[in-house]
Amino acid sequence: MPSTTDTQPTPRSAGAMTVDVEDYFQVAAFAPQIAKEDWNRFDCRVERNLDVILSMFAENGAKATFFTLGWIAERYPATIRRIVLEGHELASHGYEHVKVHTQSPENFRSDVRRTKALLEDIGGQQVKGYRAASFSINEQSAWAFDILAEEGHAYSSSVYPIKHDHYGMPSASRFAYRPSEKHELLEVPISTVNLFNRNIPSGGGGYFRLLPYSFSRWALRRIVNNEHQPVIFYFHPWEIDPHQPRVKGASLRSRFRHYVNLGTMERRLRAILQDFRWDRMDRIFL
Ligand SMILES: [Zn+2]
Repeated sequence: MPSTTDTQPTPRSAGAMTVDVEDYFQVAAFAPQIAKEDWNRFDCRVERNLDVILSMFAENGAKATFFTLGWIAERYPATIRRIVLEGHELASHGYEHVKVHTQSPENFRSDVRRTKALLEDIGGQQVKGYRAASFSINEQSAWAFDILAEEGHAYSSSVYPIKHDHYGMPSASRFAYRPSEKHELLEVPISTVNLFNRNIPSGGGGYFRLLPYSFSRWALRRIVNNEHQPVIFYFHPWEIDPHQPRVKGASLRSRFRHYVNLGTMERRLRAILQDFRWDRMDRIFL
């Protein structure tokens, strides 16, 4: 619903750019087809894709936060060090992409602890941020916030305040909030625009590839200019890789969501890097 006021040139405004570092065979939508034990048999493309992303960020003077799987960090420590050396923030995406609400609090705690220690060891930098696999902190798994705070995380970005069949907490705040008075942990949800009393996903993922880029730019500018809030954008390295091997046997819906417009993603990302000024989560929110 772009209006005339939204088409006026706007100064580039700050937002948090984030990358969920996982490979194409580790996504939740393909979990029914690909067991974790088989991950080792796949041809990894994350290193090559991160190479392109880091160059794109450098060309546009963008800094970002990389929420990284422990599994990936263990295998590609040189790329992880490059992320840190180039001035980006290294943060945790858990060890092997298990949704929070499918774990016991004890298992969740040991996964959080193991991944944070591993990333700090490789990156040589304190890890402050955490993003749950598939935005899987919701009403049922809100206990996870306490554990994240106890394990030394300063913020989480694990809530998408939308209605979606796989994730989402539509009742959650659209902007950064403290989930508990017991600690200082900050939750920073992915950006949405509220239209007709409904939160429309506006911060990346399949929607960013599916909808025209002009909608995304309008939505993000509206958040910055009308609501005076920083935007939070996310994407995955496999999204810029139209030549990735196709996973067989997944549902039509999962394949559509994963493969739609992969070939346009790099161009769209270059546009968003030029239209907005991007920084790390910790610098914007802590
Ligand atoms: Zn993920």
